[in-house]
Amino acid sequence: MVWTNVASGGGPFSSKLKNPDVESIESWWYLPYDQLNLGLLPQEESIGIILIESEKQARRRPYHKQKLCYILSNMRHFAIETQEKGIPVLYATTTEQYGEPLRDLAKQVGPISMLRAAERELRTTLKPLIDEGHLIEHEHTGWLTPQTWFTETVGTEPPFRMDRFYRRVRKEKGWLMEGDSPVGGKFSHDADNRQPWKGEHQPPNAPEYEVDELDEEVINLVNHLFHEHPGTARLNHLPTSDGDHNKALEFLSEILLYFGPYEDAMTKESRGLFHSRLASSVNIHRILPQEVIDVVVKAKIPLNSQEGYLRQMIWREYVHHVHEVTDGFNRLNISSTVPENRTAGWPMELALDSTSHPNHLKQTRSLPMAYWGQSSGMDCLDWAVESVMDEAWTHHIPRLMVLSNLAQLMDIEPRELTDWFHAAFVDAFDWVVEPNVLGMGTFALGDAMMTKPYVSGTPYIKKMGDFCNSCSFHPTKTCPISSMYWAYFERHKTSFQGNHRLAMTLRTLEKRAPEKKLQDAETFQWVMNTLAQGVSLDPQTSLWPKT
Ligand SMILES: Cc1cc2nc3c(=O)[nH]c(=O)nc-3n(C[C@H](O)[C@H](O)[C@H](O)COP(=O)(O)OP(=O)(O)OC[C@H]3O[C@@H](n4cnc5c(N)ncnc54)[C@H](O)[C@@H]3O)c2cc1C
Ligand code: SF4
Repeated sequence: MVWTNVASGGGPFSSKLKNPDVESIESWWYLPYDQLNLGLLPQEESIGIILIESEKQARRRPYHKQKLCYILSNMRHFAIETQEKGIPVLYATTTEQYGEPLRDLAKQVGPISMLRAAERELRTTLKPLIDEGHLIEHEHTGWLTPQTWFTETVGTEPPFRMDRFYRRVRKEKGWLMEGDSPVGGKFSHDADNRQPWKGEHQPPNAPEYEVDELDEEVINLVNHLFHEHPGTARLNHLPTSDGDHNKALEFLSEILLYFGPYEDAMTKESRGLFHSRLASSVNIHRILPQEVIDVVVKAKIPLNSQEGYLRQMIWREYVHHVHEVTDGFNRLNISSTVPENRTAGWPMELALDSTSHPNHLKQTRSLPMAYWGQSSGMDCLDWAVESVMDEAWTHHIPRLMVLSNLAQLMDIEPRELTDWFHAAFVDAFDWVVEPNVLGMGTFALGDAMMTKPYVSGTPYIKKMGDFCNSCSFHPTKTCPISSMYWAYFERHKTSFQGNHRLAMTLRTLEKRAPEKKLQDAETFQWVMNTLAQGVSLDPQTSLWPKT
């Protein structure tokens, strides 16, 4: 039998690939795009690795070009690094989905092993092969916590709340624990972690990486095959080689000291502030979650930063369990709608969707072009979108309190917003993006994950960021966001009846003067109509008194 690596011929990558000596291989392992680490596999002799690039998968959404570059270049670097360790690699490319080449291979070499796929979407694609016996599924060893810790503390039915799971993980792992008690006497130091940043400590520059010939080849490939996708293809800010990922992990030590206090802060002076930018490396397992935890628990830093970071890594485990236990929320009885279509940025064949998706508040408006880079006239939104378009990333608070917040206030269809996050962010995979957007960034799951929606008016954005200083809107005189906030509660107040955490908000709403409420509703309409036409909001044409 003759084996050929089918990576597109002639370039630096295919010239580095060797044909594997198949006869010497006792077991073949298929590693999907997000399991790029040999540490996940049993340490057996004579294994071979299968990696596959699927053009069809890359076309599933209008993925940001940098995300495609990141995944493909990491796969290629990992293939060469694996080969250099003496482990044979079979690297295939296909215009079809992963299943087709895998079935062909399995017919030749016998059943192929793989770790349980993290993404539900990939599990669905590969299920027929597992059922046919061509693929043998093993437990995914990259997760830090077994599902039983989740089901025993949180359960299998909503509402899902993180606290008991968090304590269980801390105790079982002994992370920041003294015996049975948390170091510092309490499990959460969240209250110390909400400071705005006023320039007092200089944030480190985000790491930069050398763009090598494998990166260059992928950038050219993406520009050629996926030229209509959003964003600019580049990789100087994203790690692709083993050495790059070591550098990415070293960056963690540079940000940890001030991670806690400024976790929620936003500034135009530094996109990343004291955030680690590690999610993309960890989600494809170029860095294992345990390696990150090891750095954090050993760090000599204030407890609020240490506990704050650890909490985020445990939150990562938690959202994965929620997604698995609910079968990507498909098992839950939540009111849902079929999105009419996805307007902004989607190729026609992908814009239609006949499936029903969770939509507790029945929000059905389309995402405006402002989320794909068209100016909205709101500095906070334009800054966050610019980061996403420029580097396929923003940190947590712009995702939550700007991008999702404004989408909620605009009644954007939650599935369309989720798909936008999935396509636009380099670290987005279904198990993490869906709980974060459907469960936290919007109220699409009702109170299944959050007791109340994360929405805010102008004061929160003004307090935690510095955008209002340069915005054409005046935060207290012309900014439309607080008005949209009240319009949102007015539209959805019946859905929130009986929600104790919103009782005060609803009481304040009740006392709001009728003319204010009318102005709120008109502001909402003005914002929606203007952005829907792809036009930027102008304070001079707003309904508000002029400054
Ligand atoms: C609307 C919305 C969408 C999001 N989409 C994604 C996504 O697609 N992929 C993704 O990995 N994270 C997502 N998050 C979570 C979080 O915003 C990102 O993990 C984080 O911003 C990535 O940047 P970082 O690596 O610098 O994180 P840091 O702020 O440095 O945090 C440290 C690590 O903790 C983990 N983490 C932190 N918060 C979360 C969380 N809420 N869920 C899961 N892991 C978390 C990540 O691995 C991250 O690298 C989303 C959050 C929101 C509100
Ligand atoms: S004034 Fe309003 S729209 Fe402008 S940056 Fe501030 S919060 Fe955003």
